[in-house]
Amino acid sequence: MRYISTRGAWANDPQPFRAILLEGLAPDGGLAVPLRYPRFSAAEFEALRPLGYRDLASVVLARFMTDIPEGDLRALVDKTYRKETFGSDDVTPLVTLEPGFSLLRASNGPTLSFKDVAMQLIGNLFEYVLAGERRSLNILGATSGDTGSAAEYAMRGKRGISVFMLSPRGRMSPFQQAQMYALAEPNIHNIAIDGTFDDCQALVKAVAGDTAFKSRWRIGAVNSINWARVAAQVVYYFKGYFAATSNAGEKVAFAVPSGNFGNIFAAWVAREMGVPIGQLILATNENDVLDEFFRTLAYRPRTADETRATSSPSMDISDASNFERYIFDIVGRDPAVVRGLWADVSDRGGFNLAGTAYAERVRASGFVSARSLHADRIATIREIESRYGIIIDPHTADGIKVGRALRASELPLICVETALPTKFAQTIQEALGREPTRPRSFVGIESSPQHVTALPPDAARLKAFIADHALHS
Ligand SMILES: *Cc1c(COP(=O)(O)O)cnc(C)c1O
Repeated sequence: MRYISTRGAWANDPQPFRAILLEGLAPDGGLAVPLRYPRFSAAEFEALRPLGYRDLASVVLARFMTDIPEGDLRALVDKTYRKETFGSDDVTPLVTLEPGFSLLRASNGPTLSFKDVAMQLIGNLFEYVLAGERRSLNILGATSGDTGSAAEYAMRGKRGISVFMLSPRGRMSPFQQAQMYALAEPNIHNIAIDGTFDDCQALVKAVAGDTAFKSRWRIGAVNSINWARVAAQVVYYFKGYFAATSNAGEKVAFAVPSGNFGNIFAAWVAREMGVPIGQLILATNENDVLDEFFRTLAYRPRTADETRATSSPSMDISDASNFERYIFDIVGRDPAVVRGLWADVSDRGGFNLAGTAYAERVRASGFVSARSLHADRIATIREIESRYGIIIDPHTADGIKVGRALRASELPLICVETALPTKFAQTIQEALGREPTRPRSFVGIESSPQHVTALPPDAARLKAFIADHALHS
């Protein structure tokens, strides 16, 4: 399998998986996508039904990572998807709440969000590839919560990798902050910036935009556009489908609370690969750029000022970074059309597919969407707890709210659980009048020693800090 860019780079020289693994954007500013989606015939697909998570992951990932020898990939998968790391051999177990309505629990990894499923694999893949090339990588990122902690827990103690993670000082939940700052591994560097998340992102851009500094210090990224993250997430859509159905060809609906469009995009890829998905139900919170697109076909990214802080904070995005990959598929994988649309985003603030030849393709793609607001979240957390005795987190509540509203009645509904409630205890307190019980490994985490360096929002100071602490070679 080889990779091209959504904006046309590499068209004459498609890249192997290893070449795109460590890169952020393609050189033309586009995103790496496979030349074509690997497709399982109906018979091949059904043959996967009895497989356990690790077997299934090996088969699915092998189609994307053809330049990693099969035995090596198998070893990486076995090392990643262990019961000790994810709580069960199922990794993403399905619980049936009632016939035709189930929860796919993707949040049982070390940092209690679905991001661990991909990030834990990435940690092992990076270490493997860097060791093969005898080189190191200094990962620079910014986080407002879940991504940073998932990346740090995946990279802690890995050979040849160090992490510099910027976070806005004092603006994450106490739990999220403690989770990151508690890490004592010398290759993890928490940097608290006196400023907002946008200031952190601007600093990352400033440092990574200095190409001389970037190559001198081998600066890399693990953001949500990394293709390996998408590929790793595809696996649990296969797994969830098999767990929720018993008949070949039976269709299902997946409901996914969405921000950067990475999780639900993996469901779209699974559908293209042969998973019988009838509906892809996308939920947003008050930050509704994606819902607006699927309702009106107008894509209008918001500015940082227009982005609201909500009680499902991991979906507080203004611009859905993975969305370009979906549009690439919708416009018949024509990079010239994608370049034109994203030129409209820069020049005119967005684009509108209504009335174009692509409108019908969007409709036929199976996506439907709606918003869920704070009051919906609270009501859904209460209702699910009283009916089924399960406490869900605010993001999962958004997905369930919208999933139940939009599902086609004949399709079994599978809602993806994207985090555990203990990460967002304040909202659970508001909904239920009590906090959820914490997994034992996180009890008292706020009082463990904190490892963090405070810096002002100043690119020169940040570069000096990186140069002092980065891995060489
Ligand atoms: C990251 C995240 C999301 C959004 O996922 P995307 O892939 O960005 O659409 C939803 N819920 C939780 C808890 C998250 O951490």
